[in-house]
Amino acid sequence: MSRLTAAEDRIVESARDILASQVMPRVRAWDGGQADSCAVLPAFGAAGLLGIQVPVAHGGLGLSFHCKRQVAEILAGADFGLAMSVVNTHNVAHHLANSATSDVARRYVPALLCGERVGCTALTEPGAGSDFSAITTVARHVGDEWQLDGGKAWIVNATHADVIVVYAQTEPGSGARGIAAFVVDGRRSGFVRQARADTAAAPGIGAGGFELQGYRAQADELLHPPGKAFKAALGSINGARTYVAAMCCGMVRECLRVASAYGAQRHTFGKPLHEHQGWRWSLADAAIDLEAARLMVDAAANVIDAGGDAQTAAAQAKVFATRMAGRHIAALMHAMGAEGLLGQHPFLRHLAAAQVATLTDGSTEMLLDRVARGLRSAE
Ligand SMILES: Cc1cc2nc3c(=O)[nH]c(=O)nc-3n(C[C@H](O)[C@H](O)[C@H](O)COP(=O)(O)OP(=O)(O)OC[C@H]3O[C@@H](n4cnc5c(N)ncnc54)[C@H](O)[C@@H]3O)c2cc1C
Repeated sequence: MSRLTAAEDRIVESARDILASQVMPRVRAWDGGQADSCAVLPAFGAAGLLGIQVPVAHGGLGLSFHCKRQVAEILAGADFGLAMSVVNTHNVAHHLANSATSDVARRYVPALLCGERVGCTALTEPGAGSDFSAITTVARHVGDEWQLDGGKAWIVNATHADVIVVYAQTEPGSGARGIAAFVVDGRRSGFVRQARADTAAAPGIGAGGFELQGYRAQADELLHPPGKAFKAALGSINGARTYVAAMCCGMVRECLRVASAYGAQRHTFGKPLHEHQGWRWSLADAAIDLEAARLMVDAAANVIDAGGDAQTAAAQAKVFATRMAGRHIAALMHAMGAEGLLGQHPFLRHLAAAQVATLTDGSTEMLLDRVARGLRSAE
C-alpha cells in the first residue's frame, strides 16, 4: 500500500476522531430518514477534510488523491452515504478552485471548505443516466447570460446542496459536443428543489433532484464551454470510480470486523463460531478479496496521483470492489445468523449501499465496456 505523508496521516486520524465523536451516534437516525449527514459537515470542514485536494492557495490542504481515498474508505466503514456526501462537497470545491474564474471561486470555495454550503455535481436526469450525452437540460444564451431549463435526478446531496455544477446541452441534438457546465446557485430564483428520492438505500447520501426553471447563470458562471465539458466530466470520473471502490473496501472491512468479533463470543455446538472451520472460511474469503480490491484501488490511485490515464485501472477497481462488496457483505451478514439483520449492525445498510455503488459514477456495464475498449486499443 502506498505510504501517506505525516500530514496526511494526521488528516486520516482526524477523520477517525470525527467518526467516533460525531458520526457514530447519528448514523441510525440517518438510516431512519430522520436527519441527514449535513449536520456533521462543519466538523469535517474544521478538520480540513472538505479540502484535502484543494490547492493551498484556495484555502485547501493540497494533499494527494491517496489521502482523500483513504479518508473516503474510513468514512464509508461507518456510512457510505456520509462518505459520498462529504466527498461530493469536497469535489465541487476542488472543481471550482481549479476551473472557475477567481471571482466565482472566491464566492463559493471558502463556504464549501468550511461546510457552510454543500456542493453537488449534476449530470443525471430522469431520462438520461448511463447515456450522459443524451441529457436534455438546455442552456440558451440570453444577452450576456445563460438561461437554464430542465430537470436533474439522483444527485448526491441534492436534498440540501446549494452550490451545484450542472451539465446542460447548448445545442439540442448535438450530443456530447454541445454539452457545457455551469455553476448554479441553489439560493437564486429559478432553482426548484424536489423531494428526497424515495429509497431506503444510503439515506445519508441525500439523493434527490431539482428543476431549473428559467434559471439565469451569469457569463462567468460558465465553468466549461461546449466542446470541453464532456471531456472535463470524464476527466474527473476516474477519481470518483476509485474512491467508490475504496468505500466498498471500507464497508467490507467493517462488516468483517463485526462478524469476526461476533464469532468469538457466539457459541454453537459447544464452541465459538470461530472454531467451526466451515464458518470461518467465509470470513477468510472476504479478507482475501478485500485485500485484492485494496491493491486494485491502490494501483488506480497511484496512476491518478502520478497524473496518468487511470481509465482502465479505475474501472477495473470499481467493478471488482463493488462485486466483492455485494457478495461478501451478504455472506458476512449470513455468518451472523439472525443477529446480522439487527439495525445496530451495519450489514443491511452496507449491502444496500454496495448496490448504490454499482451505479454511481458509471454502472458496472459501462465500466466493463471501458475495460473492453482498453483491450481493443492495446491490440
Ligand atoms: C444514490 C445515487 C446517487 C447518485 N448520485 C449522482 C450524482 O451525484 N450525480 C449524477 O450525475 N448522477 C448520480 N447518480 C446517477 C447514476 O450515475 C446513474 O444511476 C447511473 O449513471 C445509471 O443511470 P440510470 O440509473 O439512469 O440507469 P440506465 O442508464 O437507465 O441503465 C439501466 C441499467 O441498464 C444498464 N445499461 C444501460 N445501458 C446499457 C448498455 N448499453 N449495455 C448494457 N447495459 C446497459 C445499466 O448499467 C443499468 O444497470 C446517482 C445514482 C444513485 C442511485
